[in-house]
Amino acid sequence: MKAMQLSAWQTPPEIREVPEPEPGPGEVVIRVAGAGACHSDLHLLHDFAPGMMPWNPPFTLGHENAGWVHTLGAGVSGFSVGEPVAVYGPWGCGRCKRCQVGMENYCERAADQPAAGGGLGYDGGMAEYMLVPAARLLVPLGDLDPVEAAPLTDAALTPYHAIKRSLPLLTPGATAVAIGIGGLGHLGVQILRALTAARIIAVDNRPEALRLAERSGADHAVRAGDDAAGEIRDLTEGLGADVVVDFVGVDATLALATAVARPRSDITVVGIGGGTVPFGFFSVPYEASLATTYWGSRPELMEVLELARHGRIKTEVHRFPLEEGPQVYERLAAGEFTGRAVITPNS
Ligand code: NAD
Ligand code: ZN
Ligand code: ZN
Repeated sequence: MKAMQLSAWQTPPEIREVPEPEPGPGEVVIRVAGAGACHSDLHLLHDFAPGMMPWNPPFTLGHENAGWVHTLGAGVSGFSVGEPVAVYGPWGCGRCKRCQVGMENYCERAADQPAAGGGLGYDGGMAEYMLVPAARLLVPLGDLDPVEAAPLTDAALTPYHAIKRSLPLLTPGATAVAIGIGGLGHLGVQILRALTAARIIAVDNRPEALRLAERSGADHAVRAGDDAAGEIRDLTEGLGADVVVDFVGVDATLALATAVARPRSDITVVGIGGGTVPFGFFSVPYEASLATTYWGSRPELMEVLELARHGRIKTEVHRFPLEEGPQVYERLAAGEFTGRAVITPNS
């Protein structure tokens, strides 16, 4: 079968012919419907170097996947062939306390695992078929379209987890600022809209992303730049934001986040842009809490799918055949997409 693989660190992805996977005991092979092209893959393709991760190429890209059950390994029950499923992306040991409660994104034995997930050391979903090492990593989709559902496993799950930690602050009248309205950000805005009655201010440096923010339910769309902090202060009557979620994570966005956050706020960094911000008595608001977050839990994925099922969130999807995968990443890097580009290897 064909697969889009990373062959070596810091090389462009390639379409290669690879053997079709066969499930061992407890494993499941899915026929891939959709595999989202996440900005993290650009970091993976361009910024990662030998020794940075305990795992190495070659592997098939695609860590945001959904499809149909194709073959069940020995001993797997509870799923039927042809059933649409989402693949929970962060693969932990499955046995530690965190994994037992479905929080495999923070597996206690992550450092001892051979890789982090499909598309992250293990073969991912940018191929006709994908091997999933345990049935516990599959979530039934019911009547959700598996192409549209693929981005929900990361582009929605990650903001959902980031926002959920701040729900107590997001009372009616509170302000949430979302910075970077791409694949994650446009779903982040929809999740804020679905879960809260807070005022939502979206920030991006692309006009088309700001329009997407408005379509997604933002109350205000602010162009990134020198005036952004002042505009946000004005929109909040000088108070600043109760919650800032930064889906970019470069120096400029972190500086904006700390500039507009008010005392007792949450500042959550989701983007892995590699920026830093000084943390000290005079550099962040009083009692602001700063956190980075990584992906989300399995129960949270089920909650995200429920939001989609009820029409409360919807990914703006652009579909591409597997062969166009390498160009999709070039176009993602050039900022040409609104929403999420999804590779559909079987359509
Ligand atoms: P994307 O390319 O779809 O969207 C990024 C958006 O940020 C674009 O709309 C872009 O115009 C905007 N942007 C870029 N620089 C900006 C700036 N200086 N100011 C304002 N806006 C700016 O990316 P994505 O797939 O949504 O991913 C977003 C980030 O989240 C990436 O860094 C990605 O690696 C990271 N990520 C983190 C996790 C996690 O678990 N923490 C999971 C998935 C993705
Ligand atoms: Zn991702
Ligand atoms: Zn674990």
